[in-house]
Amino acid sequence: MSQINNPMEIYKLLNGSNCRECREQTCLAFAVAVFKEKKPIHGCPHLDKEVIDRYEGAIEKPNTIDEYKAEAIEKLKQKISLIDLSEAAKRLGAEFSNNKLTIRIFGKEFSVDADGNISSLIHINAYMIVPVLNYILNGSGKSPKGNWITFRELTGGPSRYAHFQQRCEKPLKRIADTYTDLFKDMLEIFDGKKIVSDIDSDISIVLYPLPVLPIMVCYWKPEDGLESNLHIYFDSTSDENLDIESIYTLNEGFALMFEKIAFRHGA
Ligand code: SF4
Repeated sequence: MSQINNPMEIYKLLNGSNCRECREQTCLAFAVAVFKEKKPIHGCPHLDKEVIDRYEGAIEKPNTIDEYKAEAIEKLKQKISLIDLSEAAKRLGAEFSNNKLTIRIFGKEFSVDADGNISSLIHINAYMIVPVLNYILNGSGKSPKGNWITFRELTGGPSRYAHFQQRCEKPLKRIADTYTDLFKDMLEIFDGKKIVSDIDSDISIVLYPLPVLPIMVCYWKPEDGLESNLHIYFDSTSDENLDIESIYTLNEGFALMFEKIAFRHGA
């Protein structure tokens, strides 16, 4: 039996027709209902028996992943309690006051104190906290140069690129395809800035998941028989501020945050 970790993994098994024979308004709403175990996967009459047999009862409770991340966060907090936070703030160009280091994540304040305790004006998931703490521990604070490159061009990127596409770019593309306006709104919620870039996409928005680690999300709408497309670009200095695994996890967490908002407001 295959495991299912999030609603998008169910959604991509469906035909996307939104025919409502399952009595949900959309295929995405059906995927969410199955993930929440409110509907069985065989509630969609268009799925092959082989797919139903493979995925029936395959919902993986997110606790397994959350527990793993919680453990990683605890280890990083311990490491933070051993460093001089005021020095770390100087290295990163961050604020330091009242024994707290403060950086901005998507433009909102995120603070950590000398015991590793976190306080934040933005609700970010465990996936994102791990790379953020790694950045505080190891980031160089190097300023972006404005040269946009792909994930594959970052140091260590080629070996993680297939996973990056699967877990970061494809989920965002599915949301953009289904709820293009919501997608634009969500970028604005995260303090995204529309820019004109050399990349000729329909939507190009720059976001700052970390102060010196901008990402540019570019979306091309479907046109003249061509499929839609979405790519995330990075500043060429990104791999000097964060290791490739952290960059991957940061974007995975960002994609999951987007999915959650889409399910809440769009499904
Ligand atoms: S019956 Fe299947 S294809 Fe039709 S809306 Fe529901 S999930 Fe989508």
